[in-house]
Amino acid sequence: MSQERDEIAVVGAGLAGCLLACFLARRGYRVALYERRPDPRTGTVERGRSINLALSERGLDALRRIGLDTQVMSDALPMRGRMIHPVAGESQFQPYSAAGDRAINSISRGALNNALLDAATALPGVRVAFDHRLVGLDPTTGEMTFETPQGKVLATSPVVLGADGAGSAVRGQLLGHGLLRESVDFLDYGYKELTIPPLGGDFALDPEALHIWPRGTSMMIALPNPDRSFTCTLFWPTHGTASFASLGSPAAIERHFAQHYPNLLPLAPNLVDDYQHNPVGVLGTVRCDPWQVTGRVGLLGDAAHAIVPFYGQGANCAFEDVVELDRCLDECADDWSAALPQFQRRRQDNAEAIAQMALANFVEMRDKVASPLFQFGRRVEHALERALPGRYVSRYELVSFSTTPYAEVRRRVRRQHRMLGAAGVGAALLLAGAVGSVLRRGRRR
Ligand SMILES: Cc1cc2nc3c(=O)[nH]c(=O)nc-3n(C[C@H](O)[C@H](O)[C@H](O)COP(=O)(O)OP(=O)(O)OC[C@H]3O[C@@H](n4cnc5c(N)ncnc54)[C@H](O)[C@@H]3O)c2cc1C
Repeated sequence: MSQERDEIAVVGAGLAGCLLACFLARRGYRVALYERRPDPRTGTVERGRSINLALSERGLDALRRIGLDTQVMSDALPMRGRMIHPVAGESQFQPYSAAGDRAINSISRGALNNALLDAATALPGVRVAFDHRLVGLDPTTGEMTFETPQGKVLATSPVVLGADGAGSAVRGQLLGHGLLRESVDFLDYGYKELTIPPLGGDFALDPEALHIWPRGTSMMIALPNPDRSFTCTLFWPTHGTASFASLGSPAAIERHFAQHYPNLLPLAPNLVDDYQHNPVGVLGTVRCDPWQVTGRVGLLGDAAHAIVPFYGQGANCAFEDVVELDRCLDECADDWSAALPQFQRRRQDNAEAIAQMALANFVEMRDKVASPLFQFGRRVEHALERALPGRYVSRYELVSFSTTPYAEVRRRVRRQHRMLGAAGVGAALLLAGAVGSVLRRGRRR
């Protein structure tokens, strides 16, 4: 542990902010974490706000570095593939990896946040100021203004880090001072949560899968929870026909689900109530530049680069940010004016790459996964991975089960596709072999 250093301000005690506090405290910094909400460990969970998320290798890698992976994983539910629910007919399981053994993990967002808060506050030098909403920031002096139940509070810090989420107030302050440009591209889609409670004390659906109801222009997904319920998330257009705006009465809601999600109705007794009372969340991609100003105010996580949730990577990416910032501080001997620009140089292309892959994955999840051609393609891809171990690796595998930088994932996947294309006859033969093995395996089942 190095000698005690200045107190760093981290705005936002969410997933990235708490993890960052842990990393900074381990470097010997004192950290003040400012959070607008009350302490979540004593309060109640907001209704209908994404109670679980999929944690994969990038997030786990960060947690391992602070020794929190085992604790977090003790309540995780591994999901080894997608279970596709068509409108009619049998559901179909599509494994995520060639050998079917790799899993992404459904975890409680609240429990993860609480575990990170506990870990941060257990470290010497970390203090958390709850009920502190940042409403003002002077980027040249580091003076912050917070709204609290007791009135306005001022604080000053030599380094202010915004980990305050997609609607970041720190980013807003930099924008207001003319120090940053931003674009926020909202989707014409929103999300709403529903619940499938346990059935006879057990999971109502296979708990080892991420369930998808692809419906072309929209979809629903469901992730398992440790209490044997599932949290379903509808991703629907906000306006137009078959949108959140188009369903009003309980009868219309039931009719719609009976027609498009027939296997859900008997499993979700509170569907109409959930639908009517749970909020519709917005979805969008945030881009901004720069991510830091004069080496004393910086942004990370969703505050710098919020993405749509369709690759299950937002939190994983935010955790990876923290690991990279820590690395930059190492390399820059804790000179923040060098480390923050270096962090942006290292992460910006990667954030853009996962932003684009996440958008593309929405089309895959809501539409393509249901097509027999797509399903066949995935089986061929897995056969190629088995035939060319380490040389052909699918995009999903690289994104979810490795820490290969996201921008490198895109380059590598393009290279692989070019290689297959250029190999021409060889590739055709390889594909034929792979297809043969898929068909043989299919016949053996
Ligand atoms: C429906 C949905 C599903 C998702 N599923 C996944 C998934 O499966 N896997 C995955 O990796 N990611 C997923 N994500 C993305 C993930 O939730 C985010 O990327 C992640 O929470 C970002 O962490 P963060 O700490 O940057 O921001 P946040 O988690 O948003 O935390 C920001 C914190 O800052 C606080 N704050 C905000 N404003 C202020 C202020 N003015 N002053 C003080 N404090 C403030 C907030 O209260 C909050 O505690 C999903 C997102 C959505 C919407």
